[in-house]
Amino acid sequence: MPIFVETKPEVLITEDGVRVDGRGPLDLRPIKMEVGILSRADGSAYIEWGGNRILAAVYGPREAKPKHIALPDRALVRCRYMMAPFSTLERRKPGPDRRSVELSKVIREALVPSIFLEEYPGTVIDVFVEVLRSDAGTRVAGTTAASLALANAGIALRGRVAAVAVGRVGDWIVVDPGHDEDMWGDADMPVAFLMEDKEITLLQLDGPMTEEQFREALSLAEKCAEIIYEAQREALRRPLILAERRVAEEGR
Ligand code: ADP
Repeated sequence: MPIFVETKPEVLITEDGVRVDGRGPLDLRPIKMEVGILSRADGSAYIEWGGNRILAAVYGPREAKPKHIALPDRALVRCRYMMAPFSTLERRKPGPDRRSVELSKVIREALVPSIFLEEYPGTVIDVFVEVLRSDAGTRVAGTTAASLALANAGIALRGRVAAVAVGRVGDWIVVDPGHDEDMWGDADMPVAFLMEDKEITLLQLDGPMTEEQFREALSLAEKCAEIIYEAQREALRRPLILAERRVAEEGR
C-alpha cells in the first residue's frame, strides 16, 4: 500500500523573506470567486484560493421543519463544512470527523453576526461548505465563499464576511500561509471580519506569537480582508454586468 510522506522543506523562508512557494511575506495566493453557479440552491458561490477549490451553497430562509426547531423571533442558521474524500493528498475517510464538526461551528459563528436573523422568524437558513480540493486555509476560504453565497441568496445582511489567515514563520509574519507553512510554520491565525466596520467574527491562534507579532498579524489580516472584500464585491457584480451586456446586445 502506498504511504504518503510529506517532507518538510529545508528552508520555509529565506533571510530576505522569500517564501517556500516564491511569494513575499505580504503576498496573497491568487483568488478567484464566482456566484450563482448552483441553480438548485437559493444562493451559491465557488472560490479558488491558491490550491483550494470550495463550493458554498445556501438554502433558505425556509419554514423550519420539524416545527420544534423553529425560533419564534429569528432564523435558525445551520452550517455544514465537509471535505470531499478526494480533497486531500491521501484519500480521507468519507464523512464528518472532529475537525469538520469544529469547522462547521466556527464558520457558522463567523457568519451569524452578518445576518439580519430577526427578519426571518421561524425559518431555517442552511449553509453548506464543500471542500473539493484543500490547500491550507479552507476555513477562511470557506467562510468567504459562504458569505458570498448568503449575499447571492438575497438574504438581508449587515455586511459581508471576508476571512483570511496570517501566520508566523520564524521571525516573519506572513499572510495567507500555504500548505507547507501551515504544516511546519510556527503559528497560524485565521481571522474573519464583518466588513465594513471590521468587527471580528472569528479569530483562532494556533502557535505562539509575541504581543507585537500578534498586533502586526492582525493589522495585516485587516489589510488582506479589504482586498478579499473587494473581490467579493466584483464577483457579486459580475452576473449583473453580464446581464447588462446581454440586454445591450439583444437591443442592438
Ligand atoms: P485550514 O484548512 O482552515 O487551514 P487546518 O489548519 O485544520 O484547516 O488544515 C490545514 C490543511 O491541512 C487543510 O487545508 C488541508 O489541506 C490539510 N488537511 C486537513 N485535514 C486533513 C486530512 N484529514 N487529511 C489530509 N490533509 C488534511
